[in-house]
Amino acid sequence: MHRIFAVIASIVVLPAASAAGAERLAVGVAAPLSGPNAPLGRQVEQGARIAAGPLGVEIRTADDACSAQGGAAAARGFADAKVSVVVGFLCTEAIEAALPILKGAGIPVIIVPTIASTDAPCSGCAVLYSAQGVFESVYYQRSNPAAVLVDSAIIVRAPVRFLVAGMGDALATWFEARSCHATRSANACGGLSTLTGLNLARLCYDTLLRYGAAAKTAAEQQIITPALGHIIEANTLLSGIGFESGGLASAHSIHNGLTALAETHAFYHGEKVAFGLLAGLQLIDAPPEEINEVYRFCEAVGLPTTLAAVGLAGCGRDRLLQVAQKACAPEECIHHEAGSITPDKVLNAMLAADAIGTRRKSV
Ligand SMILES: [Zn+2]
Repeated sequence: MHRIFAVIASIVVLPAASAAGAERLAVGVAAPLSGPNAPLGRQVEQGARIAAGPLGVEIRTADDACSAQGGAAAARGFADAKVSVVVGFLCTEAIEAALPILKGAGIPVIIVPTIASTDAPCSGCAVLYSAQGVFESVYYQRSNPAAVLVDSAIIVRAPVRFLVAGMGDALATWFEARSCHATRSANACGGLSTLTGLNLARLCYDTLLRYGAAAKTAAEQQIITPALGHIIEANTLLSGIGFESGGLASAHSIHNGLTALAETHAFYHGEKVAFGLLAGLQLIDAPPEEINEVYRFCEAVGLPTTLAAVGLAGCGRDRLLQVAQKACAPEECIHHEAGSITPDKVLNAMLAADAIGTRRKSV
């Protein structure tokens, strides 16, 4: 937690130096203070108070409960209290619900992720889900978080499944950016990808292939290694820049479609994105050797390669068609793929990806 202290100290020192005698700085600290993540949240709260004490900074703590509702309530409280800056948020759900409210109030946010399970921390977009976990929409901020501070000593203590899920989210970044580049489709900011974004997306994929398995092994033993550091960077920074600059396509739309079925809600974003990518590669007729490479990677690190692995064992065609229809909604990024994409094609791609994944498991 020592780096969290450092960040709070740096926020505090700058205004104090430039505005001696000005009103007292108030820092909002959002953390889960209830539920199973409360022990972590209390560490954040205590760390903030210890760091702020000697500097005379006012700390206002809010329980974000690691939920969208809690994050939104915390943000509204910070806006009412007119805090100068907000730090904290351990869970993506809470961050994403809070960011639009804090942006509206003109309050900068410093993100301190404790898991590397998605590329959301670095991005300026917030994905909104219903209270039941169904994808609803994407909200784009005016800017990205003011800072993202990742401490590998914290990440390595989180359950390994989070790190693996982050690899699933990052795995799709290159393929989706490549599709957007090929079809001249817009990125998350409404513009076309840069060569920088495209190449960082490729570096993200290459980094996963190179270091993913070793990073997982290190995380299982709670050992901080260079490989783990490379994967934290790929999951958080490379994937964040890659998707936001490069654009999204079928993998994330199929993920969004999967959220329509309640059985998938126990699975993390990156786990569903990984299966969405495997289906998407079927959809776009990707080269077989490339498809094999992605399956091999998923199998090596333990990402889903079948429908059963995202909670959909025995799911009938009619319900899978609901997934495909949601994935093909007019506003979905799946239409960044070449050619006309229809629910029938997506359904077949999901079934094909599942069949290949199942066959590979049996040999
Ligand atoms: Zn994602």
